[in-house]
Amino acid sequence: MDVWVLRYGHRVKRDERITTHVALTARALGALGMYYSGQRDRGLERSVKRVCEQWGGQFEVKFVEDVEALLKTWQGLIVHLTMYGIPLLERVDEIRKRGEGQRLLVLVGGKKVPSYFYTYAHYNVAVTLQPHSELSALAIFLDHLFLHAPLRREFNTRFINKRLEVVPQERGKRVKVVKEARNDRVL
Ligand code: SAM
Repeated sequence: MDVWVLRYGHRVKRDERITTHVALTARALGALGMYYSGQRDRGLERSVKRVCEQWGGQFEVKFVEDVEALLKTWQGLIVHLTMYGIPLLERVDEIRKRGEGQRLLVLVGGKKVPSYFYTYAHYNVAVTLQPHSELSALAIFLDHLFLHAPLRREFNTRFINKRLEVVPQERGKRVKVVKEARNDRVL
């Protein structure tokens, strides 16, 4: 399943850190890219690109002007994460099955989302029925969608053409410099 994220309503300065973290979370947990709307932010695009160059993978960040047009023309499933939706555990298995072989777009807000999000989405899903954040909702959703695969060691092989790689250990920090670009299979 090819998963993309749409982060709605980015505001330069105010949201710089959180939108970058939405992208990095999406990337680390198996999404192929992030669309974002609101204000175009080249700094954000550059910093995610830098991470991808160092740590590998094929993650893209795309600015989208007309969000409604993207949703209207999206070929695949749309899931909107909102505290007002149906609890995640009541929907995630169905989404995984229905999404097989399809593209899936995960919508997250920041500033208030337009009401059409609720209508274009095939699923409005709540990650608890309490207010928290787009970052935590996205992480928990992707973890469940992919049945925890991103948390396993082997998942790291999907990050192809990396320059750096973490060598996990109990204590301290160990990072290996990967000299040559490798062409590992993308999971
Ligand atoms: N009242 C908002 C809502 O619709 O969930 C909370 C706004 S919150 C500051 C920004 C974004 O975080 C929301 O647009 C939503 O994507 C996500 N979010 C916050 N709490 C959530 C929850 N419990 N379940 C799913 N997503 C949540």
